[in-house]
Amino acid sequence: MRAILSSVAALATVSALVLIVSAQTPAYDLLIRNGRIVDGSGSAWYRGDLAVRGDTIARIAPRIDAPAARTIDATGKIVAPGFIDLHTHARRGIMDVPTAENYVRQGVTTLVEGPDGSSPIPIKPFLEQVANKHISPNFATFVGQGSVREQVMGPVNRKATPAEIDRMRGLVRQGMEDGAFGLSSGLFYVPGTFTPTAEVIELAKVAGQMGGIYISHMRDEASHVLDSVQETIEIGEKGGLPTQVTHHKIIGKAYWGKSVDTLRLIDEARARGVDATIDQYPYTASSTSIQAALMPAWALEGGRDAVLKRLQAASSRNELRNETARLIREERGGGDPQNVQLARCPWDPSLDGKRLGDVTKIHGLEPTVENAAETALWIVERGGCSGIFHAINEEDLQRILRHPMTMIGSDGEVPIFGQANPHPRSYGTFVRVLGRYVRELKTITLEDAVRKMSAFPAQRIGLADRGVLREGLKADIAVFDPLTIRDRATFEQPHQYAEGVSEVIVNGQVVFANGKMTEARPGRILFGPSKR
Ligand SMILES: [Zn+2]
Repeated sequence: MRAILSSVAALATVSALVLIVSAQTPAYDLLIRNGRIVDGSGSAWYRGDLAVRGDTIARIAPRIDAPAARTIDATGKIVAPGFIDLHTHARRGIMDVPTAENYVRQGVTTLVEGPDGSSPIPIKPFLEQVANKHISPNFATFVGQGSVREQVMGPVNRKATPAEIDRMRGLVRQGMEDGAFGLSSGLFYVPGTFTPTAEVIELAKVAGQMGGIYISHMRDEASHVLDSVQETIEIGEKGGLPTQVTHHKIIGKAYWGKSVDTLRLIDEARARGVDATIDQYPYTASSTSIQAALMPAWALEGGRDAVLKRLQAASSRNELRNETARLIREERGGGDPQNVQLARCPWDPSLDGKRLGDVTKIHGLEPTVENAAETALWIVERGGCSGIFHAINEEDLQRILRHPMTMIGSDGEVPIFGQANPHPRSYGTFVRVLGRYVRELKTITLEDAVRKMSAFPAQRIGLADRGVLREGLKADIAVFDPLTIRDRATFEQPHQYAEGVSEVIVNGQVVFANGKMTEARPGRILFGPSKR
């Protein structure tokens, strides 16, 4: 009897120990319960629990009862893959704001840099610098064709020699070896605009052979937008690699509606086997420098001194003013100087946020298009500003958004909160799609919107272990309320964080919860196909 009693006691002791041990080492590090899972694939949402161990999604099931170190109750909320932004200028600001709070609060967990043909060359020390900063989201980059050309040839308007093309090929190869996901171009900008298509194709071939994609801010998004889409397709076709029209839009009232034709070109290309896709931000205004937007490319050749010389000579200044007036009337200016807004003027911050018509008045002139052109040239002379250009049509925006080959990319940066008057896309892109275009306007479904922000961009650049909620994949997760998610940043007051995202997880660690960023900085540098 005594022996039985003591073995019962021993059993009790053992099970108490088991309880203590299991309480000390929970099965999971994180458990997200009772949410509606939108897995990123485009499939319909389903109810389930999701458990994380380390940096990995360990289990997804209708119900998970095993203990976890931390539990998030997602009742009434959506559990989605963290969003992947293929077009960011995050190097503007990421070193000052390593949390990239403006992005994380939208549910973004991966930032891809190096768009528009512009990247540091070489990219290796740049990526090391970012890694040393210990940032919150993951970070990746493209290698920029414009930067490569600038390094080899300078900002000149001529064809490259065979020797120069060889050196450029070498720099693209090096960029890919250092971990780039492909080649970006900005054929609208100097020096990309001086590049013949055949030269871009030669560099695209290198990126393609190494598993990369081509992504392009096209040569023209206004009067020649169809030629530009055709060129982007041709570069993919002859370069032998996937090709993407980035931040697709139609600029200038005279060309609105042309997205019908641009999308048809994409469909036709895909039908004959060219892997062409699109990304887009959900705003009817673009943003770039005043000089890139409102001056012709020929005036920008050779760098700042050459530009100033052209502005000083009466004959070229007259020609320039006429051309700038045309660009205000027909293209980025949206037909009215008030459609041009200054974003950041380092030499006079009091101009930040003002409209070009108003600046023209401050400058002592009637706000006619011609006088506004004169004011724009004066701005360039003073050192230039970045600008916001209200010249895109809502109908084109929605048509492009509905297209199955369109994903979401912000074209934003990491602003220092409260400084200057940046385009609101940096604060609002992803939540604006979910609030305005899914919930309010029903332009696309919730599942499709999430796909355009997660699985689709992940697949595009070959991130096989992210972008979808599946067991065994990396735990990059956004939890949000589909009824309240919305953008608050406006063109007048851009420094307003997104609303409705409640938790953001990067590599298994919670980086945003309870309305604020946590101490965790789990973001990693993600490397492209040649370095992986
Ligand atoms: Zn761009």
